[in-house]
Amino acid sequence: MIIDLHCDTISEIYKNKSINLKENNLMIDINKLKKSDVLLQFFAMFTYLPDVDSPYNYVNEMISVYEKEIEKNSTDIAFAKSYEDILKNTENKKISAFLTIEEGEAIEGSIEKLIHFYNRGVRMMTLTWNFENCIGFGNKKLNKNGECVGYIPDKENGLKPFGFEVVEKMEELGMIVDISHLSDAGIYDIIDMTKKPFVASHSNGRAICDHPRNLTDDMIKKMANRGCIAGLNFYPEFLSRDFTNRERKAYIDDVIVMLKYMVDIGGSEFVAIGSDYDGFSDSLEWSDAGGTKSLIEAMEKSGFTQSLIENITYKNALRIIKEVVK
Ligand SMILES: [Zn+2]
Repeated sequence: MIIDLHCDTISEIYKNKSINLKENNLMIDINKLKKSDVLLQFFAMFTYLPDVDSPYNYVNEMISVYEKEIEKNSTDIAFAKSYEDILKNTENKKISAFLTIEEGEAIEGSIEKLIHFYNRGVRMMTLTWNFENCIGFGNKKLNKNGECVGYIPDKENGLKPFGFEVVEKMEELGMIVDISHLSDAGIYDIIDMTKKPFVASHSNGRAICDHPRNLTDDMIKKMANRGCIAGLNFYPEFLSRDFTNRERKAYIDDVIVMLKYMVDIGGSEFVAIGSDYDGFSDSLEWSDAGGTKSLIEAMEKSGFTQSLIENITYKNALRIIKEVVK
């Protein structure tokens, strides 16, 4: 069984209405999820700010597409808004779908809009993408046109005063706080201020792959001490920076090295899966979401115990949901 904390599939379907969730050429469709025995898929509503006038309206439209796709495939998949929903769907042999937002500007500086999204079923929000927004700052600096103007860990600019308010409200509502993409300073703000465990839905370890989107050892240790988790991201650039003599793609060996390292630093209850499927165009050594289970075989071959594999593939994520989501 697999729980995947992050994919951009609905954003792709939203942009191209001829694609559907049942069967498509993307990395994720329902048939592929079934092949890998996926228990729960998180679907992110991602906004690329330069392309959008009102992120709030844009995300609402995307949620409508998500709802329609889930509805059309109701024999295979069901919208889950709580831990109990997941158990019920599993009992009914259905995949669960979790609704999440990637880019907190969707709430346009308004706690009422945050509550609105909670009421539509959003149960996790990635506070920032790589742009500065109403909540805080990312590590990769982009100007308004989306051009990169700096790519270093930002230790100065973290959460804004409104960002603190948002995170407090998310904990009160029962929405998971996601720090992937947030600046280093922002991550430490979250470590200091939160009362509940939070997640890095799709981030790896910086000591293995030196990229500002990945987590430092210190962050991993502090998060693990708080019961937090990180979803392992398959985006090649976050797995390895070395593609000089090989094709730029996601290799199973790199995934195993990263998993081992993150378990070494964060412990067996820290690591989960956050594929980032359909969030990048590089290829995978395995086919697509239908091949995620081949990673389980690779973990077995590399000597991971059965209980560690279960923790990584679904139990750690389920624990957070049970603890945080209301
Ligand atoms: Zn992302």
